[in-house]
Amino acid sequence: MKIQPLFTGLEPTPEPKGPEGEAPLYDLVIIGGGPAGLTAAIYAGRARLKTLVVTGPLPGGEPSNTDLVENYPGFPEGIAGGELARRFQEQAERFGAEFVMDEVTEVDLSERPFMVRTPSAVYRARTVIIATGAVPRRLGVPGEEKFFGRGVSTCATCDGFFYKDKRVVVVGGGDSAIAEGIFLTKFAREVIVVHRRDRLRATKILQERAFANPKMRFMWDSVVEEILGDETVTGVRVRNVKTGETSVIETDGVFIYIGLEPQTQLFAGQLELDEWGYVVADRHQRTSVPGVFVAGDVQDPDYRQIVIAAGTGAVAAMEAERFLEQEQAVAE
Ligand code: NAP
Repeated sequence: MKIQPLFTGLEPTPEPKGPEGEAPLYDLVIIGGGPAGLTAAIYAGRARLKTLVVTGPLPGGEPSNTDLVENYPGFPEGIAGGELARRFQEQAERFGAEFVMDEVTEVDLSERPFMVRTPSAVYRARTVIIATGAVPRRLGVPGEEKFFGRGVSTCATCDGFFYKDKRVVVVGGGDSAIAEGIFLTKFAREVIVVHRRDRLRATKILQERAFANPKMRFMWDSVVEEILGDETVTGVRVRNVKTGETSVIETDGVFIYIGLEPQTQLFAGQLELDEWGYVVADRHQRTSVPGVFVAGDVQDPDYRQIVIAAGTGAVAAMEAERFLEQEQAVAE
């Protein structure tokens, strides 16, 4: 895998070679190329840190999956998610950050410099920012992949607007499903929550609000077995897990909120994670390992917004710079 600029057409940096001891040394390696990682790269580049971003499989991160971003400040007409990501990266490249479109397969955070390995290269890092994001869990039913982005969504904030006066189905019974279901009633004429049990997991206050909302209906003890449609979604096939009966709900959209999976498998056992697997960070985006910082959805179960991921990315990069400065001051 080559180190290459993904969007700007600059000359690729040569592929690093040689044993681990000779692996190229960076002031900062950022793992993840979504809004958090790319913003961190902008700040690190401007701080003149020698910075590498290993983007992972989806350069630009989750926004690249979003048609139109309407809530990122500075774009009153909205901006395509992919275009926003492209601009983030172009800005980071302008300040000297290097990019490799590769997936990190192993990290060693037990000693410094830290080690970051991909299938084709090894890098050494004086500091690391983890910005690997969190992936919405999928149902794994027929039609889900086919209609993703065309009626199936995991982001009401991004896509709810498109369901004005329509009927939507929300799958799940946790805080996300109920909070986002309530949010969707601002647009939709009806929100049907399909939940696999006969009571919600969501906090009581959210439940009270949802039950009091005249636009919300609940289908208990039910699972979605298939998402139906032609060009876009037209319905879902649902099975009652107690009776075994199946039925079809006509709907224009399906919002899936059955939990998130923070992408922290690489770091388990190396730094502190909470009980849901999110990286534990303080308000300076510091993790339990000095020199390792974290930003974006991988440490944020609550907000999952581009602007917030970008903000924590900026903090993480400023803290990495400060960390290196303090280290140098001690050495002198
Ligand atoms: P969650 O709490 O794990 O809830 C996931 C829901 O999806 C559960 O109701 C679960 O059912 C259901 N589910 C899981 N797998 C399923 C499957 N394969 N098919 C059908 N249903 C399935 O996830 P979350 O709602 O995304 O919340 C994640 C974390 O963020 C939580 O800690 C939550 O408190 C927090 N959060 C907080 C807020 C807030 O407003 N404070 C908002 C959003 C999220 P069961 O109930 O039967 O297990």
